[in-house]
Amino acid sequence: MYKNIENLYDSFKEVRIKERAFSYELWLSLLDEWKQSPLLDVSEIGQTYEGKPIHQVKFGVGPIHICAWSQMHGDEATATMALADIFLFLSQNSDKTREIREKLHQKITLFIIPRLNADGAERWTRETALGIDMNRDASKLHSPETKVLHDWAHTINPLFSFNLHDQHRLYSVGNTPHQTHIALLATTGDESGTWTDSRLRAGKLANRLTKIVQEIYPNKIAKWTDEYNARAFGDYFQSQGFGLILLESGGADWDLEKQSLRKTNACLLLDAFHAIATEEWKTEEITTYQTLLTNERNIFDIKLINAPLSSSKNIRADIGLNICEEYTNGKIEFSWTLEEIGDLSIYSGLTEIDAGNYELNNDYSIEKGKNYTSLQMTLNKQVAFNLTDYTNKINQTK
Ligand SMILES: [Zn+2]
Repeated sequence: MYKNIENLYDSFKEVRIKERAFSYELWLSLLDEWKQSPLLDVSEIGQTYEGKPIHQVKFGVGPIHICAWSQMHGDEATATMALADIFLFLSQNSDKTREIREKLHQKITLFIIPRLNADGAERWTRETALGIDMNRDASKLHSPETKVLHDWAHTINPLFSFNLHDQHRLYSVGNTPHQTHIALLATTGDESGTWTDSRLRAGKLANRLTKIVQEIYPNKIAKWTDEYNARAFGDYFQSQGFGLILLESGGADWDLEKQSLRKTNACLLLDAFHAIATEEWKTEEITTYQTLLTNERNIFDIKLINAPLSSSKNIRADIGLNICEEYTNGKIEFSWTLEEIGDLSIYSGLTEIDAGNYELNNDYSIEKGKNYTSLQMTLNKQVAFNLTDYTNKINQTK
């Protein structure tokens, strides 16, 4: 089913959303369109601290209840873009998608809160306007947004729920050189990690999703550590029997706006909804899911091996450079930070360069923690490494 949905993706991609930090105005106009659809029921179920509406988008009349929410961390918008695609899939009257849509409509009811932490989304911060990390507020419910999420899910009492996040781009699959593209977790609902009915449902569905992602991005799927954390919603909702799966979008090579992972999210979630509607998830084991390695930090964006540290003295070491993002005036700007200098032989670079014969261009210095927009090294007086070339790769995928 995943492949069928993926083949249809261009017909339901919401093309007006082009990047993660899309504008609030665009979001409001999309909500207005979804409200017009006879297939979607859009309603305000609460407000953020600063008074922005929190919307629920509901679809279907089926007896199986499914919840999903995105962007409880304001600067994690990949799944929100995917949900916009899914709303287009569910609302448009297309022959190509009719069969799947009608099956979903009859068998399940979807309750979705997209862009939950709208105040944080507008500031592009993880936390809410009050500075609270919603995903550490599941037991105390200090912030108004977490209270909305808590009460909403309890009213619905879902068989499955999806907690949708972005994780740091540079998590690796265990200690391998592979960048985690997608991470999953069938969270635990207690200290001893019991495979309750709820966790087992999540685990079986995660098993299906693991096999799909392994096909698309071989070796680039991981799981999160399943240590119990009562303050986190995933763990708390599992303890309440809500069949919770955590789905995290990680890095995607040079696709920093993560449009590839957006597509994967949209198709993966639709496949999951379909597997729930048809009860195919029941045929899964959890063995493939359980073989996943956990997220670690083992990679740099660029690793220069044996690079020159000075333009006048012959001193060399490995250098690790990472892309950093800065949010200014509604846009994400990219630059580089020099993260580490020394023996980096235990780490990998997404790009690795043997700089053993390179010289440092006189105009540049090597400093740990410094922010770079350009950096050049030469070989026989010719430019051999030019950081700007790599910055351009980012912009090309935009
Ligand atoms: Zn998050």
